[in-house]
Amino acid sequence: MTSNIINNDLIKKDPVFGQLSFDGHEQIVFCNDEDTGLKAIIGIHNTVLGPALGGTRMWTYQSEWHALNDVLRLSRGMTYKSAITGLNLGGGKAVIIGDAKTQKNDALMRKFGEFVNSMSGRYITAEDVGMETRDMDIIREVTPHVTGISESNGGSGNPSPVTAFGVYMGMKAAVKHKFGSDSLDGKKILVQGVGHVGETLVKLVSDEGAQVIINDINENRLEELSKKYNMNVILGNDIYNLDLDIYAPCALGASINDDTIHQLNTKVIAGAANNQLADEVKHGRILKEKGIAYAPDFLINAGGIINVYGELEGYSKEESLKKTENIYNTTLEIFKLSEKENITTHRAAFNIAQKRIDNRKKEKNS
Ligand code: NAD
Repeated sequence: MTSNIINNDLIKKDPVFGQLSFDGHEQIVFCNDEDTGLKAIIGIHNTVLGPALGGTRMWTYQSEWHALNDVLRLSRGMTYKSAITGLNLGGGKAVIIGDAKTQKNDALMRKFGEFVNSMSGRYITAEDVGMETRDMDIIREVTPHVTGISESNGGSGNPSPVTAFGVYMGMKAAVKHKFGSDSLDGKKILVQGVGHVGETLVKLVSDEGAQVIINDINENRLEELSKKYNMNVILGNDIYNLDLDIYAPCALGASINDDTIHQLNTKVIAGAANNQLADEVKHGRILKEKGIAYAPDFLINAGGIINVYGELEGYSKEESLKKTENIYNTTLEIFKLSEKENITTHRAAFNIAQKRIDNRKKEKNS
């Protein structure tokens, strides 16, 4: 049913360009298909450096507004992630509203792929939360604008292990900055969210002798991993005031927010989740004041995009790992810049990324 009556509250809130997390986004595409039940939103934040590449997330959002807000925040994050990593890619992301465990099927994936294809390469998709390599293979049946496809189909496979390796390198750099040595031996680490990335990160840090605690809303997953790795598990949400050396957010975004930030009792934050700070400016500043070394998420979780970018250029695993390893050096530089200029680490990383975009824009316009 349609109506030409627009609710006055909506008009007052002006929810389109001035609200939610809109921040200079170029294009938002709403994808709706009644036959498959697909409801998706593709967000393109910026294409100055290249086509907008970013994963697709399938999640049970509280409302469609929450989904829109998420795609706005995530696509913007991709712009700065690719920019600081030196990739010729813009920032984009997609969200599919629904439960990946019960509502995802091949027809839905194909239909989503058709929408991606309709954007003629301005947006290129990949995996994110709720997606698997197999889903990318299905999307590949209807569009070439997809990465993270399986190795047997000529792709680079699941990017998560490379993401985890980059987070590990960024974590080590943050630890070096905070403690003077980058060893994780004996460090007490909470990994929140033990999915694709979290599990590999758990393996990497435990192999180095860290004491790891894991937390996840999926209790079956927690049980499975605690048995597999003999880990300490913590159930529920009461995790923020734990006495830690390192907090590694590897679930969803905004876990550092007005409610949690004052409880934090950790020396370092380094994890895979996108958009960890609910408010980049305010929460970035509070972390700096508390003396917590925060490794910017969009810098240290770039391993996955580095890996899938390789598919566009001719994939080499060695090359991807080498570029990802360099996250260690960049993270150290960001900590130094943050101290030198007395700005947050988030701002330091953001400024470098923005400069690269501005320079490219000038070149294009000259
Ligand atoms: P995933 O879906 O495999 O795992 C996420 C895990 O977090 C799941 O086990 C889920 O149950 C858990 N979780 C969700 N909400 C939680 C909460 N409130 N508390 C505790 N646990 C919770 O996803 P993933 O691919 O491992 O990605 C993890 C994060 O890293 C996401 O924010 C994603 O956007 C980001 N990221 C992933 C990649 C990648 O290559 N996969 C790359 C860059 C960034």
